[in-house]
Amino acid sequence: MAPTASSTSAVPSTSAKALLDPADALSTLASYKTGDGLSMDELIDSRQHGGLTYNDFLVLPGYIDFPASAASLKTKVTRNVTLNTPFLSSPMDTVTETDMAIAMGLMGGMGVIHNNLSAEEQAEMVRKVKMYENGFITEPLCLSPNAKVGDVLDIKQRLGFGGVPITDTGKIRGKLLGIVTARDVQFRRPDVSVTEVMTVDLVTARQGITLEEANTILRDSKKGKLPILDEAGNLVSLLARSDLLKNQNFPLASKRPESKQLYCAAAVGTRPSDRERLSLLVDAGLDVVILDSSQGNSVFQVEMIRWIKSTYPHIDVIAGNVVTREQAATLIAAGADGLRVGMGSGSICITQEVMAVGRPQGTAVHAVAEFANRFGVPVIADGGISNVGHIAKALSLGASAIMAGGLFAGTTEAPGDYVYRDGKRFKAYSGMGSLTSMARKTNKISGENAATQRYFSEEDTVKVAQGVTGQVTDKGSVLPFINYLYTALQHSFQDMGVQSLDQLRNNVKVGTLRFELRTASAQLEGGVHGLSSYEKTLYK
Ligand code: GDP
Ligand code: GDP
Ligand code: 5GP
Repeated sequence: MAPTASSTSAVPSTSAKALLDPADALSTLASYKTGDGLSMDELIDSRQHGGLTYNDFLVLPGYIDFPASAASLKTKVTRNVTLNTPFLSSPMDTVTETDMAIAMGLMGGMGVIHNNLSAEEQAEMVRKVKMYENGFITEPLCLSPNAKVGDVLDIKQRLGFGGVPITDTGKIRGKLLGIVTARDVQFRRPDVSVTEVMTVDLVTARQGITLEEANTILRDSKKGKLPILDEAGNLVSLLARSDLLKNQNFPLASKRPESKQLYCAAAVGTRPSDRERLSLLVDAGLDVVILDSSQGNSVFQVEMIRWIKSTYPHIDVIAGNVVTREQAATLIAAGADGLRVGMGSGSICITQEVMAVGRPQGTAVHAVAEFANRFGVPVIADGGISNVGHIAKALSLGASAIMAGGLFAGTTEAPGDYVYRDGKRFKAYSGMGSLTSMARKTNKISGENAATQRYFSEEDTVKVAQGVTGQVTDKGSVLPFINYLYTALQHSFQDMGVQSLDQLRNNVKVGTLRFELRTASAQLEGGVHGLSSYEKTLYK
């Protein structure tokens, strides 16, 4: 019936004819000139003057036709290194040493060991990360028949393993005589000969066997180790049962495909002494080097990249930090395999306040990634990540991975001891440009300090801080925390309707993934509000 002037209904009645057929909803949608919200270009253009931070925008939801668990977070972090999870821990002396780097690797990310310590100490950390898990252990530590139980106990204490093959030469490629394991030396006096306690009735396999075949023999033999021998009975490598368990327990671990060793990255500076430092790190098995500088666009960094690429072509170099296209171009041209983006956005950072330089992180990530991705150079969004939403936004802006310090500080795996205050546990978390970090003497001979180099202030008589010294509350182990980040990020991908980073990038490019600016009141609305008190537990 047609509406009449005398209608009393509060809702204006519409003729059935004026309503569209619901079956036409999608074709009607297609008739709109643009999608709802803003494209990435429009989002960035809207902040041409002023810049964009992660909190300034939201991603509009997409279409869900897959379970969250189907979302893959696999990503390239450099030209040649692919990780299963896009998380890196910062090279900071309160964030990444051996334990953090192993944990990050096991969870599919990568830890970057800081350089605010001697080159020897840093190399030892890299070696421990690389030794932690193996396919074939190609250089197993061996002992000769003259060795004593005490030597095995010493190895166990220093290196963490007690499964030691005994060869006639005491070295790999010697004739295998037996093997000593932790249980053989338990309750034995240190001066007892290893030949008295070693097992000689061994299950072994022949050189040339595949890793899969060797793993099957190891599994079925129920032994702890499988020595691999050549036809003359000489030891050529070793397999450890505990590695099968590590592989099973950490299916996402980021490992070199050939060796099954965890990827390991470490930071160096750009001074002549850093070339010596790097040679020790490379000997220890380093995969990726990060040139740690707060402002990477320098002649020092360009020369260092060129030198590394010609001296160690198998090592990938992540250069930075940068926040502009111009800075990025210099480093890409010099040969960088990845770029680290961020200046002044870190949680402990006062660079923008003191130096007046820096850039809002959303704009910086977008500007650099838009440029670098055209050359196949992945970008790492470094600093200012304080929740999962920030990670999703960094990736939507074009980053391939994120790097965080504060997020991972305060965990069991972060360096340093807990301190107690008011019944709570805390760990120190300090900026590398803080006076605390700059005060450490990290090169015993020259007295140089990595932190002062990072901020180009080693010549200064007055040390100008670019970071603060602080504390963060105890977060427990980083392992469940990364599991939470991973699962939550998968759910974020599901909400955005993308199943992979490639799809995310493609949907941003073609304009089907849409964005919205977030005003101050929208930010209030999007946070918890209106409660007299609440508890915020992020995961269980
Ligand atoms: P998968 O997803 O764990 O099977 O990874 P890959 O496809 O790379 O593994 C190929 C083979 O290597 C399989 O037989 C795995 O069990 C084995 N493998 C993977 N990681 C390790 C490891 O750290 N140690 C040993 N011994 N074998 C491994
Ligand atoms: P063990 O039984 O006391 O030898 O210790 P596990 O088998 O639990 O641990 C051995 C771990 O150390 C494995 O993950 C190995 O890959 C690793 N590893 C690294 N280098 C060596 C080495 O030279 N010898 C042995 N036995 N293990 C090594
Ligand atoms: P967060 O994840 O805590 O927000 O930031 C960590 C990042 O801040 C690091 O990866 C590094 O790039 C940067 N950073 C670390 N220490 C300092 C510092 O003292 N000053 C500045 N400006 N940046 C720092």
